[in-house]
Amino acid sequence: MLEPEILKQGDESGNRMIIKYTAPASGAAVWALGIPQAWETPLGPTWCYLVEDEQLTVIDPGCHGSEQHLSEGLEYLGYSLNAVQRIVVTHGHMDHDGGCLSVVKASGAELWAHEIYGSLLLEDRWERETSWRQQITGFQAFENSETVERVKEHHHRSRQLTLDRKVTDGLRSGNLTYYYTPGHSPDELCIQFHNLMFTGDHILPQITPHPSVARSHATFRSSLPQPYRTTNHIYGLKAMLRSLLRVAAMNTTNPPPNNANTTAMHANHPPNNANTAARNPSQPPNNANIAVLPAHRAYYRGQFNLVGLERATEIVQHHITRCHDLLNILKQGPRDLVSLTRDHFSHRELADSNFFLALTEVISHLELLQETGDITTTTPQALLQPNNKIHWNGTESFPNFITNLAPQPTTTPHPPIP
Ligand SMILES: [Zn+2]
Repeated sequence: MLEPEILKQGDESGNRMIIKYTAPASGAAVWALGIPQAWETPLGPTWCYLVEDEQLTVIDPGCHGSEQHLSEGLEYLGYSLNAVQRIVVTHGHMDHDGGCLSVVKASGAELWAHEIYGSLLLEDRWERETSWRQQITGFQAFENSETVERVKEHHHRSRQLTLDRKVTDGLRSGNLTYYYTPGHSPDELCIQFHNLMFTGDHILPQITPHPSVARSHATFRSSLPQPYRTTNHIYGLKAMLRSLLRVAAMNTTNPPPNNANTTAMHANHPPNNANTAARNPSQPPNNANIAVLPAHRAYYRGQFNLVGLERATEIVQHHITRCHDLLNILKQGPRDLVSLTRDHFSHRELADSNFFLALTEVISHLELLQETGDITTTTPQALLQPNNKIHWNGTESFPNFITNLAPQPTTTPHPPIP
């Protein structure tokens, strides 16, 4: 079990808190800093991690406007900001990398992220996707909201960043191994340090990461590096599920991916003593009992939420349940997208950004249900049109489809960087 030690108290969500985590078996230690969001949110802080490896590394500096919380936290641990040599971004969402520009400037640190992060830096992602959003009724209020303003400013700021190291799947440098786990975002990385896994927003405790939508691939393919252009393996729920199945399978104490529809039964599996053996640096990391260090909710409302990689299996199960629930509504008769969304989330208030998140959550599931043949619309694009009705086809192929998905392919491992 991962051992947390609170070095500095924060508020009950963990804002401004500093925690030292010591890994089971390996004894590896890292520090977590609760970087507050610069806006009102129930998400809690972004957990930024400090790793003392071949280079002093900061993973996810947090949002723009909270940079001083990072430098204060580092100072508390005895480091000035310019001691930081490398900043790793798990993915290009503003609560993770919004502070990058100031932090890179102040520290002179190298910026590392997945190569797709680099190719999307120049894109105004929000603008590029306006066309499909405009088809949806009830969207205009959000389009002019503060959240969207913040997203636009974030893209504007990101344009001034340069990616120093384009990370690809399997890269190893020092004791850090980078895994490409797209789906929540097309550039999402999980990073392993001994038997700790920094999961960004790919695996979160308490809450489930929001899937991207598959249709974004068509929008952005021309900006992507060549290998990602032809077939979409990086956007949408299917991509995310495949990345979750991959990470779930990494845990040698986990059931094989075909049993992904069973909820985690191995959460309390006893430690594997083989893992205490010192690792030869030329060997890949030993994957038994990996503890998850997520970017959100590691600590919340006065409690730690410590999970292992089996949490990935629970998240897969959550999406199978959501597909069931959506299909159950459609079994009562054809529905349009907006009314289906409002019905499915009828227990929640869907103002502004909540409506957008709910809507794209539903779209990502419907895209998958279209692919499994369980639902139909006149044409795939018609999914978003206001008067289009979504029909249940009388089948339920999706649970098998999901549990039999091949885990996200591992590309040829990247050679270690000297
Ligand atoms: Zn996040």
